[in-house]
Amino acid sequence: MTDPLKPAVRLTELRKSFGSFEVLKGISLEAMEGDVVSILGSSGSGKSTMLRCINMLETPDSGQIEVGRETIRLTQQRGRTRPADGRQLQRMRASIGMVFQSFNLWSHMTILENLIEAPIHAQKRPRADCVEEAELLLEKVGIAEKRNHYPAHLSGGQQQRAAIARALAQHPKVMLFDEPTSALDPELVGEVLRVMRALAEEGRTMLVVTHEMAFARDVSSKVVFLNKGMVEAEGSPHDMFTAGGSDGFRQFLSGGSGLK
Ligand code: ADP
Ligand code: MG
Repeated sequence: MTDPLKPAVRLTELRKSFGSFEVLKGISLEAMEGDVVSILGSSGSGKSTMLRCINMLETPDSGQIEVGRETIRLTQQRGRTRPADGRQLQRMRASIGMVFQSFNLWSHMTILENLIEAPIHAQKRPRADCVEEAELLLEKVGIAEKRNHYPAHLSGGQQQRAAIARALAQHPKVMLFDEPTSALDPELVGEVLRVMRALAEEGRTMLVVTHEMAFARDVSSKVVFLNKGMVEAEGSPHDMFTAGGSDGFRQFLSGGSGLK
């Protein structure tokens, strides 16, 4: 059983600039094991940059990132911050599953090959086990019959469900989602949200950047509102969506991103 008081992800005072533009201005955020944290905010507020810092697709200029009680070690080199320990980076990345807006499946591989690639080659697990598990995962996300198809032959919703299954195949401790339904035709959004909801119900730790307000309200344990690189408001969905939040958050909600 998971200990509900164990932090799965903890960001402390993250700062990141691109040139002279400070995108993250000291972000602190905590997700306990089993938490589903919805991250909301207007375009350009730093949501993707924050998520990308967690698995070091971007290196923060300062601050601390902990995943599963392990802190990513950073070092300064010629005035730039970078990961200090490649092996640690690799290990931590493997424990973080990332799902992007644009699916990012490998187009030259079948769906099954997409799922078993990292488990076999990066994690050195036996092929037969990886195949067996991949088939279970494809069943779980409802596309078992697509195992031998190439991504281009799947709908956007099916590709995104395959991308989720691929992330799960690496046994991540934490799942990060960056607007996983934003590139989908409206009629395909529901099938992806249903899979994400099922993962939440299983007790998976998830950080989800989303514009799906109903998901944020109904599925998450915590809602975080980013504004101009800062956490402007956070709280339970109930608090955030009823009286709580901040003026900026209420403005954000009324500005067309409101509850669907
Ligand atoms: P969000 O995901 O909330 O829309 P982003 O994190 O993508 O916001 O971007 C925040 C700001 O940082 C934007 O103004 C964006 O243009 C800028 N930005 C993001 N990535 C880069 C980059 N690699 N180089 C320069 N500017 C960037
Ligand atoms: Mg973004």
